[in-house]
Amino acid sequence: MKFTTKVVHSQLKGTEEIRSKTTPIYQTSAFTFESLEELEGFYEGKSPYLYTRTGNPNTDELGRMVAALEGAPAGVATSSGLSAILASVLAVVKSGDHIVAAEDLYGGTFHMLKEELKGLGIETTFVDFTKRDDIEGAITPQTKLLYSETVTNPFMRVEDIPLLVEIAKAHNLKTIIDNTFATPYLCQPFLDGVDLVAHSATKYIGGHSDITAGVVVGNEDLVKKAREKVVNIGSNLSPFEAWLTVRGAKTLALRMGTQAHNSRVLADELRNNSHVKHVYYPDNLSEKGNGAIVTIELDPSCDISAFFKSLGWIKIVPTLAGVETTVSYPLGTSHRALPEEAQEKLGINTHVVRISLGIEDADDIVTQFNEAIKNSIS
Ligand SMILES: *Cc1c(COP(=O)(O)O)cnc(C)c1O
Repeated sequence: MKFTTKVVHSQLKGTEEIRSKTTPIYQTSAFTFESLEELEGFYEGKSPYLYTRTGNPNTDELGRMVAALEGAPAGVATSSGLSAILASVLAVVKSGDHIVAAEDLYGGTFHMLKEELKGLGIETTFVDFTKRDDIEGAITPQTKLLYSETVTNPFMRVEDIPLLVEIAKAHNLKTIIDNTFATPYLCQPFLDGVDLVAHSATKYIGGHSDITAGVVVGNEDLVKKAREKVVNIGSNLSPFEAWLTVRGAKTLALRMGTQAHNSRVLADELRNNSHVKHVYYPDNLSEKGNGAIVTIELDPSCDISAFFKSLGWIKIVPTLAGVETTVSYPLGTSHRALPEEAQEKLGINTHVVRISLGIEDADDIVTQFNEAIKNSIS
């Protein structure tokens, strides 16, 4: 071989004989074949991989892992939480169909349904999902799907999933639940009869604030459809991001266990603080814990800027779920685009702060919040 040939053909390509303890990163856009028979074998289902957009060992490992955690037979990884939601929704509805969704959904999902899918001829009606009559009243002959989240943002409303499944069965509808906030460690909506479960793995599944990823899990048929959407739209996850996500997910139980404990401690502490008007933290999410987000409304006697400036090592970050405790300001970020009456209806105002608990020592977290509240009293 001449140099120019050697430089592209001298690497070790097969890895079967190298017995790595962890899954290697298959950072490849495609897979090789030795013969036309072998290539034909791909289409007959004999070999699994052809081209990374249509499938890759790392992205498949993530899909399978989350499916196993949710108790579901199949899963597919996607490039983000929103692309997981899009793939799951398009696996169930098409142009001309109608969706009934909870009115307090994650902002990005709300926008996708209200603007993007509406533009494609898919209408969504948003209603108060605490009211059975409102849900049933919104169902039309075109309705195909009920869509909600296990726990909502930022007020941690716990969805009555068995009730949604019952309504859906009675009207021959599918259900999709976004289980991002609860994670399969705390809740497994598929086992309650939900058809597809979507995740922003960017949050607790990845857990280290270093990737953007999503996963859809459910039964084989519907996940096959979701996977077709991912392949055809091109919203596949990169192998390296899938690998990082799997690595992060291995500690999900340890992280969420500690984060839920820290949340309980902080919520109890702040409920006894006379400068905190409301503490939003559920007590009925699961036996293992109630999630890792505590939202508070400070008393009007607190200066909100002074509070944020006095948080020391706790940073303002417009996301959640990392190992570090962080705070966000819904009025200024996640809910900023909502009309004022919608903000008011949801309870978002100048003194609402969302706290994402990390894995630090609970005493240090409590001390820092008490100090910030003390410094904010004017
Ligand atoms: C962050 C989030 C999403 C969107 O996920 P991305 O990974 O940012 O696309 C969807 N649902 C919930 C509940 C989220 O918190």
